[in-house]
Amino acid sequence: MQILLADAILTHDSILRNHGIVFDKTIIAIASNEELKHQYGDQCQELGIGSILMSGLINAHVHLEFSANRSSLTYGGFMPWLSSVMANRDELINDCDDTCIATAIDTMLTNGITAFGAVSSYGYDLDACIKAPQKVVYFNELIGSDPKMADPLYANFQERLFASQSTKREGFHPAIAIHSPYSVHRILIQKALSYAKTHALRVTAHFMESSSEREWLDENNGDFKPFFENFLKQHQAANTAKEFLTYFQEVPTLFTHVVHAKENELKLLKDGEHTIIHCPISNRLLGNGAIDLEKIQSHNINWVCGTDGLSSNYALDLIEEMKIALFMHYSHDLLPLAYQLWQSVTSNAANALGLNCGTIAPNYDADLLVAHVDYPINEQLPIHLLLQPCTIKSVYIQGQKVKGNT
Ligand SMILES: [Zn+2]
Repeated sequence: MQILLADAILTHDSILRNHGIVFDKTIIAIASNEELKHQYGDQCQELGIGSILMSGLINAHVHLEFSANRSSLTYGGFMPWLSSVMANRDELINDCDDTCIATAIDTMLTNGITAFGAVSSYGYDLDACIKAPQKVVYFNELIGSDPKMADPLYANFQERLFASQSTKREGFHPAIAIHSPYSVHRILIQKALSYAKTHALRVTAHFMESSSEREWLDENNGDFKPFFENFLKQHQAANTAKEFLTYFQEVPTLFTHVVHAKENELKLLKDGEHTIIHCPISNRLLGNGAIDLEKIQSHNINWVCGTDGLSSNYALDLIEEMKIALFMHYSHDLLPLAYQLWQSVTSNAANALGLNCGTIAPNYDADLLVAHVDYPINEQLPIHLLLQPCTIKSVYIQGQKVKGNT
């Protein structure tokens, strides 16, 4: 059992001054430093002025296999970016060996990320994710819109899925990603979702990322048209947006981006108890615009903030991501938005990914960060932590120190 006494604890909706946490694998108690000193005496470790205890952060959406990208891909518009991915994919994938993926995972840990959802296109990141100290939801991705290729593509997906399912390590959760409504045939989607339901697997999918996707799904037209005609000899979208969402009716899913969704689609997302993953930096770099958070909140849909992969970001850092979101959504009141963002990468993300962490309360896993700031702590801490980031001194996962020396 360990007892850490901090200057402040940042919870999902408040700041507890002069409080500490008692924990082993899970959190046992939260109380004032005074009380804990009285009860436990020398067993207490005082972290000092400027110290903050908070939940480990949860990055619900990352593509680790593309971590080699620095400047190979074209930013500014979705189609130029997609074309640059097609042109550079083999090289980027080859350049990212186990060390490259392990480095990306370790960078996330340094940045306080104690759990992540990895979308895996090829299974090349499996070993590194198994060896990672973090909790991992490992989303094996299914892609393929050509019905003639359905069987071999599903077989390839199944092979990767089964390989991840044969792994038994605490905190590693095999799961399923359906790439998007425009890239997966309905037969494949239905087959994979039925498997997910039977085996209680978590599911994610990209949805309504770009205006090109909107136009292609609604009208079979726009920038996607030449892309699909030239590459896949396909003249019609694989699914309409509504059809696509209907398949997920009974499988609560994490839908990434959702920048260009319509009212009726948001209603379906709410009805299906789905979650939206908001990736502000990726959306900006790929010219996709900004999600309407107000609308999402008016539908009362759970949303979380994620980094996406290094194929559309310069960092795997949720604090940087939240800072960008804070400025992107300028019409929102600053302090409430800052709180919502912190909540989105802790308790909301844990709920969506089905993990027992992200909340500082008894019986939750002790996935904790010990941080320090060099300025006085006050009631605007959630804002200051984004503008003048703290130093993360130590990272605990299930009570075990996995990084740092506090
Ligand atoms: Zn993605």
